[in-house]
Amino acid sequence: MLQSELLAKVSKEAPKDEKSVNAQFLTRAGFIYKEMAGAYTYLPLGFRVLRKIENIIREEMENIGGKEILMTIFQPKSLWEETGRWSGGVGDIMYKCDDEGEIGLGPTHEEMLTDIVRHYVSSYRDLPQYIFQIQTKFRKELRAKSGLLRGREFSMKDLYSFHATKEDFLKYYKRAAAAYVKVFKRCGLSSLMTEASGGDFTKDFTHEFQVLAPGGEDTVIYCPKGHFSRNKEIAGDLRGGQKCPQCTETLKEAKSIEVGNIFPLGEKYSEAMKAYFVDKDGQRKPIIMGCYGIGPSRTMGAIVEIHHDERGIIWPKEVAPFRVHLIQIGKEKRVAKAAKDLYRSLQKQNIEVLYDDREDKTPGEKFAEADLIGIPWRAVISEKTIKKNSVELKERSKKSLRLVKINQAAKYVK
Ligand SMILES: [Zn+2]
Repeated sequence: MLQSELLAKVSKEAPKDEKSVNAQFLTRAGFIYKEMAGAYTYLPLGFRVLRKIENIIREEMENIGGKEILMTIFQPKSLWEETGRWSGGVGDIMYKCDDEGEIGLGPTHEEMLTDIVRHYVSSYRDLPQYIFQIQTKFRKELRAKSGLLRGREFSMKDLYSFHATKEDFLKYYKRAAAAYVKVFKRCGLSSLMTEASGGDFTKDFTHEFQVLAPGGEDTVIYCPKGHFSRNKEIAGDLRGGQKCPQCTETLKEAKSIEVGNIFPLGEKYSEAMKAYFVDKDGQRKPIIMGCYGIGPSRTMGAIVEIHHDERGIIWPKEVAPFRVHLIQIGKEKRVAKAAKDLYRSLQKQNIEVLYDDREDKTPGEKFAEADLIGIPWRAVISEKTIKKNSVELKERSKKSLRLVKINQAAKYVK
């Protein structure tokens, strides 16, 4: 992609109405455009990152048997009345959008999918089922002040599992938890599987995936050895500084961002909506369910909260909008030709490149913008480098520069 063709321009000024690190950097660097509190448009750079996060999630959900569907955002009142959730709890954070108040904009999709499953599943032979979607969700959110961390309109991957037995459910719950750790690791996030209360969904145990970040809205109490973590809201008497319940280590307390959660739903929805199946013994039983959520847009915000310095974002490789930021310094014909040739050659080798071909920017401005945008590799072509038939490479996360032969550049950045 040519930087000269990008619609969004980088801004030196932080937006005045944004307090969070993620919204400030993402707005300044031209990844997102704020429409209103808690609702953002993803510009070309931002949409590339969001799609990469979604594709990582998609791959890992397919690895644990997930089948992708796309449900409607419109949700009929009648389904929500079956579970008694149209009013109160989740129903109260739902936008109701037609004149008669009969249609809600999906804040979550348990009712919708339980309805679909009861239509198709009748026997134990039809189970288990693992169904997911990546969908825009809507929630009335009073505290939409943290950029992508807390949206009124946001992206969500929600997977729902349906089982004949509790044992089968528990086995899958563990597989899903392991897949979650993998998703976040690929996104450059080290997550803590954290015990939490059920919120609106269930009174049973649930788990959140928290990443430590000073800009987070949650607080976790955790063992630094990594085998214990609990949300402070439900930690009871447990405090940082006390001994870990499982080893001799001292517990720590820190701010964190919830990037995912997994919930046992038991028979709550299947009982209420009569989603039954006939078991091997001929008995009619309610389907046992689980629900597994990850917010791709919130994950994008969390990545920025953690991976940045004073100059800008430092994208982890797998989610970066591009692999290489190629910067041309100088307008001389042979410099432009060398840069264009490298641009085409990297693209031919399937290496994603943002090519700063602009002629009205100083080298200083170009470098500052590259640091703000945060692409993993910076490659500079100038009069000086082409004299040596070379390109100057620098990793965004490191200080050192290296001059390598132009035809060797692809090998370095791969
Ligand atoms: Zn411990």
